[in-house]
Amino acid sequence: MNNETGMPGRAGLAGQALAGQALAGESLVNEGLAGQALGNLDVSGRDPFAQGLSGGEREDSLAQFAFAGPVGKVLREHFNRDMAQARLTWKFRLYYHLRPWLAQGMRQALQRSRNRSLSMADDWFIPNDFILDLQAAIRLEAGEVSAEHGLRREVAELHPWPDGHRYALALTHDIEGAEGWSRVRQIAEMEESCGLRSAWYVVPHLYKIDYGLLDELRQRGHEVGIHGYNHDGRLFLSRGIFRRRVPFINAAARAMSASGFRAPMVHRNLNWMQDLEFDYDASCFDIDPFQPMPGGVGGFWPFIVGKLVELPYTLPQDHTLMVTLGQPACETWLRKLAVIKRYSGLAMLITHPDYLNSAERMDQYRQFCQHVAGDSEKWSALPREVATWWRQRQATVVGDDGQLVGPAADRGRPVLQRTLLDA
Ligand SMILES: [Zn+2]
Repeated sequence: MNNETGMPGRAGLAGQALAGQALAGESLVNEGLAGQALGNLDVSGRDPFAQGLSGGEREDSLAQFAFAGPVGKVLREHFNRDMAQARLTWKFRLYYHLRPWLAQGMRQALQRSRNRSLSMADDWFIPNDFILDLQAAIRLEAGEVSAEHGLRREVAELHPWPDGHRYALALTHDIEGAEGWSRVRQIAEMEESCGLRSAWYVVPHLYKIDYGLLDELRQRGHEVGIHGYNHDGRLFLSRGIFRRRVPFINAAARAMSASGFRAPMVHRNLNWMQDLEFDYDASCFDIDPFQPMPGGVGGFWPFIVGKLVELPYTLPQDHTLMVTLGQPACETWLRKLAVIKRYSGLAMLITHPDYLNSAERMDQYRQFCQHVAGDSEKWSALPREVATWWRQRQATVVGDDGQLVGPAADRGRPVLQRTLLDA
């Protein structure tokens, strides 16, 4: 996200496999290429997600949520709200235009002053509005069933997670600059000593990529993903810029065998992102008022938009806690983890090797890893495994006899929303 350590340049030092492929100039790229993967989606500028608000529970809507019924409606409403809000203000747009000419110190000072000017409640990282709506929806569903005196059975759905696990844990890192690369091995080894693995998102056109290290990470059970194009904050400034960069992002995904994407600064436009050739995206979040595109989808579970599985991050970013707020990171992560566990959510954490730059910060992350290492209720999974499972779960139904039918039948289990959510 907040890359203040990397160079602000344009198509920079590409790694070997990408050499010569980076944009020499935005105008040289064939815009036609970007349209190939669009399928049936509308990219005309009209917002297809608006359908969700006015059209109710349309089966053919682009977004599919974790649960049906009133809970599904709440998930859709909060998602639509985030899609409508996920825009850069004119101040941020101006900032990203000027950013290449601003010194790093100036950028950091602007960022700090903006974030500190936001006054937030002590529990800003908990989506309380969403949780209130969620609880009301659960009561509504249960009340409707009891009002019908058993004429209608409460509908069972699939538990979010496989193999009897209560919640899922996915650790991720965005590598922002050269300094970050220098800490990758140390962080990976610490995770491995806790029996954990993680996903590492690489900026394809900013710095020299250590392909040997990426191979090593994969061999040791980690995942490699793509973190935007060159991390200049301009990827979503216009449809034209996005379109011109898409072929280079997709080529980087092929070169690095990456199935996952995360946008720098978690800028997002899920409609445009349908051009990307990834299995999943990890640029959404449940709540995060400190991002340049603030907001959040509320829910702690994955969802599907068009062809992408969306994996929201749900634990506050290290940069926000350690750099912006100076808040005790591990304590905050564990507070949030308790909420996620209560609702059987996805606990996804973003840390940056660039910001784990002191023994104290590293120790905060180590403490968190050691805590979750001892938790037998977690499903510790790579994001790509979460995305694969989620597609299987969405394609599986609970039959009238309670039997599961579909690709998740072997690992899934039926559960009533009420017992799952109203803990
Ligand atoms: Zn970043």
